[in-house]
Amino acid sequence: MDLFEYQARDLFEKHGVPVLAAAIATTADEAEAAATKIGGKVVVKAQVKVGGRGKAGGVKLAENPADAREKAGAILGMDIKGHVVGTVMIAAAAPIESEYYLAILLDRSNRTFLVMASVSGGMDIEEVAHTAPEKLAKIPVSAVDGISALKAAEIVAAANFPADVADQVANVLVKLWEVFQSEDATLVEVNPLVKTKDGKVIALDGKVTLDDNAEFRQPDHEALIDQGAENPLEAAAKEKGLNYVKLEGEVGIIGNGAGLVMSTLDVVAYAGEKHGGVRPANFLDIGGGASAQVMADGLSIILGDKDVKSVFVNVFGGITACDAVATGIVQALELLGPKATKPIVVRLDGNNVIEGRAILNKAAHPLVQQLDTMDGAADRAAELAAK
Ligand code: GDP
Ligand code: MN
Repeated sequence: MDLFEYQARDLFEKHGVPVLAAAIATTADEAEAAATKIGGKVVVKAQVKVGGRGKAGGVKLAENPADAREKAGAILGMDIKGHVVGTVMIAAAAPIESEYYLAILLDRSNRTFLVMASVSGGMDIEEVAHTAPEKLAKIPVSAVDGISALKAAEIVAAANFPADVADQVANVLVKLWEVFQSEDATLVEVNPLVKTKDGKVIALDGKVTLDDNAEFRQPDHEALIDQGAENPLEAAAKEKGLNYVKLEGEVGIIGNGAGLVMSTLDVVAYAGEKHGGVRPANFLDIGGGASAQVMADGLSIILGDKDVKSVFVNVFGGITACDAVATGIVQALELLGPKATKPIVVRLDGNNVIEGRAILNKAAHPLVQQLDTMDGAADRAAELAAK
C-alpha cells in the first residue's frame, strides 16, 4: 500500500525523522485555519499518490492564511495525472538552501535492501540516475545489520554529503531505517531532504510503501487505507477472504489455485482474440475449499461487476473433488437466485469429475453450460461475452 505524503510525514515524525509542522485540509476554509495555526509562510501541497506534483502545479507557497486559502481553492479539485485532489497538506514553509535525495528500498533482484542517496535531490531522481549516475550512490543494506550510525556515516561519505550536514543526514538515515523496518515498508523515500538557510536538515516530502504481507502484525496500518480509492468489489472480496483482482475485460474468471487461474487468464485472452478482442475481467482464486458459500461469494462478486458479460468457472478437482465443487455451484445459484444473470461456462476436471458433471447436468440451470476442455470452455466464454 502506497501512503499519502501526509501519512508518510506522520510516520516520519513518529520515528524522529525531522519534519515541519503540518495539517491536512479538504476545503479552502480548513486550509486557511490550518495556515493560521501554523503561522508564517506555508506550502499548500496536493495529496495525491503520484509523483511530480510540484511540476504539475500541485505545490504552492503561500505568504499568509488568506493566500493559503486561495492556493488551496485552486489546488483542491485539480486533476494531477488522473488523480483528483481531494485533500491538501498545509505545511510550514522551509527556506531551502540545498535539496538532497534519500531512499531505502527492497531490492528484489539482488535479494537485499538498498539505500540510494544523492546531493542532487529535488528534481526527478530518474533523471539524475540517467544523466549523472555518479551522483547517485547505491549502497546495499543487510536485513540483519540494518543502518547503524557507522553504516549511515559510510553512506553519507559515499554520496559526498557536505561536512556541515553529514551528522544530521546520518541521523536521518538511522531514523528512516527505523521507519522502514518497524513499519514493514518496502520503500521509504525523501525527495527533497533539504538543508535550510539556518543549517537544519529536514524531510520535506515523503513517499512510503508498506508491505501488505505484514498487515497481520501492523494493526495500526488499517487506518491508513484510503477507503475512497479502494475498488468496492476488491474490498468485498478481501472481506470474504477471496483473492480477487479487477482487470479491464469482459470474461469473469473463477478458478482454484493461483497457477490455474493465471493460465486461465492466458487461454481466455487468447480465445478472446477470435471474438473481437474479448479479455479477462478479473482474477479470482477460490483456493482449495470450493464450498457452496465460497462459490456463492465468488460468483456474486463477479456478477456484481457491470463489465462482466460471461463467467468462466475453471476448476481442477483435487482435495476438494469436482462433485463438491459442482454442488457448490448449484447451491450458489440457488443462493443468488435472480441476482445470477450472466451465462456461466463450467469446466470441471480431476478428482470425481464424472460425479461433478452429473450433478450440474441434473440441475440443468439455464445459465450454466459445461465443456470438457479448458480451451473449449475459454472459447465459449469469450464467444458469449462478445455477443
Ligand atoms: P513533488 O513534486 O510531488 O515531489 O512534491 P515536493 O513536495 O517534493 O515539492 C516539489 C518542490 O517544491 C520541492 O522540490 C521544493 O523545491 C518545493 N517545495 C516544497 N516544499 C517547500 C517549502 O517548504 N519551501 C520552499 N521554498 N519550497 C518548497
Ligand atoms: Mn518530491
